Order: sequence, then structure tokens, then C-alpha cells
Amino acid sequence: MRKNIVAGNWKMNQNFAEAEDLIAEIADKLDKKKLNCEVIICPPSLYLEMASDYGDESILSIAAQNVSSFNNGAYTGEISASMLNAMEIEYCIVGHSERRKYFGEKDEILAEKVDRLLDNNMKPIFCIGEQLTDRENTNHFEVVKNQLSKGLFHLNNNEFLNVVVAYEPVWAIGTGMVATPQQAQEMHSFIRGLIAEKYDTQTANETTILYGGSCNAKNASILFANKDVDGGLIGGASLNADDFVKIVTAS
Ligand code: PEP
Repeated sequence: MRKNIVAGNWKMNQNFAEAEDLIAEIADKLDKKKLNCEVIICPPSLYLEMASDYGDESILSIAAQNVSSFNNGAYTGEISASMLNAMEIEYCIVGHSERRKYFGEKDEILAEKVDRLLDNNMKPIFCIGEQLTDRENTNHFEVVKNQLSKGLFHLNNNEFLNVVVAYEPVWAIGTGMVATPQQAQEMHSFIRGLIAEKYDTQTANETTILYGGSCNAKNASILFANKDVDGGLIGGASLNADDFVKIVTAS
């Protein structure tokens, strides 16, 4: 069956010393607990090498926050999937709403990023989610369906099995306005249904679908208790070791 995952997306936060202390504290606290989930840390790219030392100890897996849609060449400022793979980085976030909004990343580019990662034996954590206005106009299922199919449904069945999906309603990200457990379950079950329709029930049942958006130490257990919520992608609360470990143990 599918695995549960809790992933901490640090975004563009922490200086190097703070990042080292935070990952060391998380690894240390987790060491003493029995884990029911895979724990992934997504630090800024500059800290991936340092973080990958903790990946070696198999308490934590490491994800990049971004990857180039190109293989290699004259693309100033970019980092390729093969470079990440050479550093033994296992996962990479793709399609985060901040990349879509601030960096204009469209579905086609995101699909290419997914391909680059899979070509290089890495696993995409693919984010989808509606804006508040989409939900107010009851258009949220359509938006999520579009993002899922345009970003991922060109993959064959075997390829798709390497993808983690993260449902992140944009109105919940960093706002304190968390989705209700019912809203999360409803959308996760809808997403799983779309995967079953496109591939098959087994593939759908094996796909990890994370919830993201103002998930914290207080609300994690009620969100994760839903049968189609397989853990979380955590932003703000992943910057505090105690809070993050509480979220991990809620899974
Ligand atoms: C995110 O950015 O992926 C996220 C879920 O952020 P937050 O937990 O801060 O809402």
C-alpha cells in the first residue's frame, strides 16, 4: 500500500547555521520516535549538500524545491535534475503555487520538469490547488482536475507510480485558513478517483496524496485521520523542530 509522508518546505528561509541547527534538531528528535511515515526536508538549494548528509542516515529524505525544465546548457541560474540526482537528492517539489504565481510557471513547463526528474530517477512532489475564487465559484474540482491532467497525465502507469501529489488550496497556504477535514478528504478522494480513471484503482491506491496549507501541530492529526490524506506538505510549521516533529508523529 501507499506510504505516508510528511515533508517540510523551508522555502527561502534560514541562514546556513540556522538550517544546520534545524535539520540536526529534527533528525535528533525523530531518532527517538517510531516513525509511521517518511520524513522529507526541502531546504533551499544551497543547503542541499549539507542536508543530504542527514539523508544518508535514513531518518530523513531530502527534496529540492525547484528544478530546471532543461537538461543542461546555457540556462543561467538553473539547476538540473541530473545535478540534483548526483547529490543523491531523491525528491523535488514541482508546481508549488508560489512558483506558478511569482515565476509564471505554466502547466507545460511543469510537465517538462516532471519529465526531467523522472528521467533522472527522482520523484516529483507535484502540487495542485485552487484559488479562493475558484472555490467560491464552485470551480475548484475543475481547476484541480486540469492541473493534475496537464502536469501529470502524459505519464505512463509506471512513471506515475513515482509521483507524490500534494493538494494545496492556495487560499490556505501561509494564511492560517486551513481546509476543513471534510474539504480535504473530499478533494483527496476526488483526486484519487481521477487517477483511478486515468490509470487504474491499484495505481490510485498506491499514490500518496499530501495535504498542504496552514497545517500545524494542532490540526495535523485531524487532517491526517482522513482516509485519503496520506500526510502533509508543511510550510511555516516546518521551521520549528518541535512543531514539525509533532506533525510527523500525527501521521
Ligand atoms: C506550502 O507552502 O507548501 C505550505 C503548505 O505552506 P504553509 O504550511 O505555511 O501554509
